[in-house]
Amino acid sequence: MINFTVGPVQSSEAVRSIGAEHTPYFRTEEFSKIMLENEEIIKSFAGVGESGRVVFITGSGTASMEASVMNIFNEKDKVLVVNGGGFGKRFVEICQIHGIPYDEIIPEEWVGLKSSDLEPFDGKGYTGFIVNIDETSTGVLYDIKLISDFCKKNGLFLMVDSISSFLCDELNMKELGVNLLITGSQKALACPPGISVIILDEVSLKRVEEANVKSLYFNLNNALKDGERGQTPFTPAVTILLQINKRLKEIEAQGGIESEIARIHDLAEDFRNKIKELPFDILSKSLPNAVTALHPTTASAKDIFTILKDEYNIWVCPNGGEMAEKMFRVGHIGFLTKEDNQSLINALNDMKKRGII
Ligand SMILES: *Cc1c(COP(=O)(O)O)cnc(C)c1O
Repeated sequence: MINFTVGPVQSSEAVRSIGAEHTPYFRTEEFSKIMLENEEIIKSFAGVGESGRVVFITGSGTASMEASVMNIFNEKDKVLVVNGGGFGKRFVEICQIHGIPYDEIIPEEWVGLKSSDLEPFDGKGYTGFIVNIDETSTGVLYDIKLISDFCKKNGLFLMVDSISSFLCDELNMKELGVNLLITGSQKALACPPGISVIILDEVSLKRVEEANVKSLYFNLNNALKDGERGQTPFTPAVTILLQINKRLKEIEAQGGIESEIARIHDLAEDFRNKIKELPFDILSKSLPNAVTALHPTTASAKDIFTILKDEYNIWVCPNGGEMAEKMFRVGHIGFLTKEDNQSLINALNDMKKRGII
């Protein structure tokens, strides 16, 4: 199988071999040391600065999205949520459930965010801004500089879901004034799903401290306190945290975050060049490095997904809902190579020869 989905993705040999081991007991100095190392490396990759902190939540990315909103905002806030697809909609639902007053910014489909989308909300007394910087459902990357400038001008707290963008697209929290960043284990970190990560700057930490969170598991104060000594309040997904450690060190050994971003960018470019002759449109006008959403012009996207899986043993990422027939996505994250790209192109060329596409 070659897995071109956007998560879970393929893992390196070293990461996979950790998964084959017994899970060790974790209330130990050895495990604490690994957790503190994980925190330090992630802090440096995110550019949060020395005073920042990192919380590891055992739960998928959505757990950290919800925990972040619960610990940062309350009913006295008024937040803006960019809702350009499935993941933006999820933040809207989270705000609804937790009674956070919000307004939605709905950008034009496939275009990304423009300053004219933000203008109507300028100087209107908002307190926070929430965005999935890569709206993975449609493969549209929003302009972080535009958002950052708007938030600085209006004094807004900036919360960024970078679950499919961390390690793929450049983002330095300190430079851009991002107060809180979310990522997860199963995207570019290329580990199994189960851990999500919240990176907090000083402003975030103060808000968390003052928050009145009606949840035991999602109260970040407990996690931050135990995290000081490299521990978690409850049993974490120990093996995945060990795999994350291995993976972070692999990235460091291969030149750090800049070379990882460059590697993924290069894979994405290679793929986008190779599909030019095939009957697909790339609709996104603002492409992230992690994923390319393709609109087939001659066949159903769902059929292409099924045939690639069943007859070629290649997995691309189907879209759901009303886009199921019109759109599928090809991920560029995880343990993939240009040879893998070529295998997918060969399969698609063969399907063209067979008259399927
Ligand atoms: C994958 C992803 C998530 C996380 O979804 P889970 O299924 O809860 O892990 C959240 N936001 C974005 C933008 C994503 O790509």
